[in-house]
Amino acid sequence: MRLILLGAPGSGKGTQADLLKTKYGVAHISTGDILRKNLEAKTELGLRAKTFMDKGELVPDALIIDMVEERLRVDDVAKGFLMDGFPRTIPQAEALDSMLSAMGLNLDAVLLIKVADELVVRRLTNRRTCRACGKISSLLDVPNGTTNCLECGGELYQRDDDKESVIRHRLEVYREQTEPLAAWYEDKGLLRAVEVQEHYMPEDTFRETEAALGL
Ligand code: AMP
Repeated sequence: MRLILLGAPGSGKGTQADLLKTKYGVAHISTGDILRKNLEAKTELGLRAKTFMDKGELVPDALIIDMVEERLRVDDVAKGFLMDGFPRTIPQAEALDSMLSAMGLNLDAVLLIKVADELVVRRLTNRRTCRACGKISSLLDVPNGTTNCLECGGELYQRDDDKESVIRHRLEVYREQTEPLAAWYEDKGLLRAVEVQEHYMPEDTFRETEAALGL
């Protein structure tokens, strides 16, 4: 399985990627997670990426492409992979095409997760991440007053870029720079889509994801 998950910030790409990874045992490649780890470790890449991330802007293509090229050299890629948050621009998609053809690999599908903007804003302002295990939780789905991860007990925190003004900007950036990838992959016959409804839990989207991918 070699897949790309495409969708606005807050569409649930990361959650679907976790579910697919658990069930199908493929590598989960999240450029956002790699960048956040670099930020935490204060690497040069992390420091260069920080100014863009804090504003909800995209990190320059060259930095991201080098980072993904390095990630694709890790052995686990042989068992299949899910790209989550990459590519986000046409030049990134073109670079990925060249990297994969140099490796003799091709993509099986690109899954577009569609969600209404207002739902994204509501979900992201309520999104919390566990500092210890990275699990994503929603304040909408956990008991009132929950401050720790229900899975491992780690501290839940709100990402700096999940504040409402930054979220609105990230949505604009998505529309302008990332959404055109849907038509680009549609032309290649790779695009599949699911539409997230207001009342959906992650398992509901997952059922549709599997159906859309023919799993
Ligand atoms: P994410 O966790 O995927 O929402 O990514 C968080 C932030 O990391 C984004 O708002 C961007 O600033 C940066 N980022 C992640 N992936 C990419 C990418 N493929 N291209 C450019 N910037 C990215």
